[in-house]
Amino acid sequence: MAATLAVIGAGTMGAGIAQVALEAGWEVRLQDVTPGAVERARERIRDGLTRRASRAVPDPAQRDGFVAGYLAHLRDAPSPAEAAAEAALVIEAVVEDLDAKRALFAELDEAADQGTILATNTSALSVSDIGHGVRIAPERVLGLHFFNPAPLLPLVEVVRAARTADWALERAAAFVEGWGKTPIRCADSPGFIVNRVNRPFTLEALRLLHSGAATVEAIDTAVVEAGFPMGPFTLMDLIGIDVNLAAARSLFEAFGRPPRFRPSPIQEELVAAGRLGRKTGEGFYRYERGQRTGLSARFATPPSAHPPQGHDGIGITDRLVLAIVNEAYRALGDGIATADDIDRAMRLGASHPFGPFEWARGTGLDEVALMLDTLAAEDADTFRPALALLREVRGH
Ligand code: NAD
Repeated sequence: MAATLAVIGAGTMGAGIAQVALEAGWEVRLQDVTPGAVERARERIRDGLTRRASRAVPDPAQRDGFVAGYLAHLRDAPSPAEAAAEAALVIEAVVEDLDAKRALFAELDEAADQGTILATNTSALSVSDIGHGVRIAPERVLGLHFFNPAPLLPLVEVVRAARTADWALERAAAFVEGWGKTPIRCADSPGFIVNRVNRPFTLEALRLLHSGAATVEAIDTAVVEAGFPMGPFTLMDLIGIDVNLAAARSLFEAFGRPPRFRPSPIQEELVAAGRLGRKTGEGFYRYERGQRTGLSARFATPPSAHPPQGHDGIGITDRLVLAIVNEAYRALGDGIATADDIDRAMRLGASHPFGPFEWARGTGLDEVALMLDTLAAEDADTFRPALALLREVRGH
């Protein structure tokens, strides 16, 4: 008999995760407090499955039958307890609110078999805090952090909370691997791997823009030319400037407000003006009927005909990558994950063409430390070389 997944919260992520498990042949129980939410999720999953099947099954009638076959394994559950009753794995994807998640985990702990894994898809909360009220079997509480869109992005960060047992981590990793995903282990620390290590990709770009050192177009073009799938401003417009700002704020607060994670005044200004990117028709760029039509008037005039490239001689992309590399070394020093796992997570979760350690070691650590020192003269909080990097330099 197929294994059962319970998904609590049928929004963007819950629907995406449910689709992934259905495609792998699992039974799925979906529960949501909002009336109609599960039905809306079912329609989104139907669309998602249809899109994914369209190449393999070109005949529309046959395709509908194929999709209906998957959807037959998706059921609505009246309560979290009933959703969890026969599940091997429960994934919570409700609103990002600690109290709501805590109450839910306490309820799931009572209802689910002690061998059932209880996972949260939180992006920014502490998994240990979410599982704090779990009394019966806290060792099966952990994080399974999927990336949006879940059916397309292969990375799942598997987060060990304070009381998580090895068997639970191994079983959860095996489940998601069976769904075709790549599980990567990490510690329960703000932003886990990708949301922390990749934060400078947008923040550093915003700083360059704010200082007048480079334009939106110059930065996006340079980054794409270096092999990244998308420039930082195109990316922020796509995911929503409000969503990006919320992630930046929560990381800034969770780390105790270090200047390197301070959100940009430009993000604050755009969100206050309701210019949230593609979804509102304007952000850094303008959009009409989903198509980009040009730069937003706010960013259209370059600060000068020849924007200075910085007095340090370090190019735009190198500067962004160096900020990411330094954060990666900080995360390594904090014991968040291994260097190889951080590299893999950045390739798979952030779609970078290379991992930060791979880049640093390929460039040469002495050279990296030298460039960081140069940039630290301007912004010590971001660029002062991480201790783990200096240790590695000395060890060579
Ligand atoms: P969403 O707003 O699209 O969906 C949340 C759903 O949860 C809603 O349908 C809501 O009705 C439901 N809900 C709220 N409280 C509930 C409860 N107590 N019981 C059952 N259902 C409840 O949100 P989302 O974007 O899918 O995010 C869900 C979680 O996933 C959050 O923790 C978020 O941080 C995390 N996450 C989001 C993304 C992303 O890019 N959207 C990526 C990774 C992780």
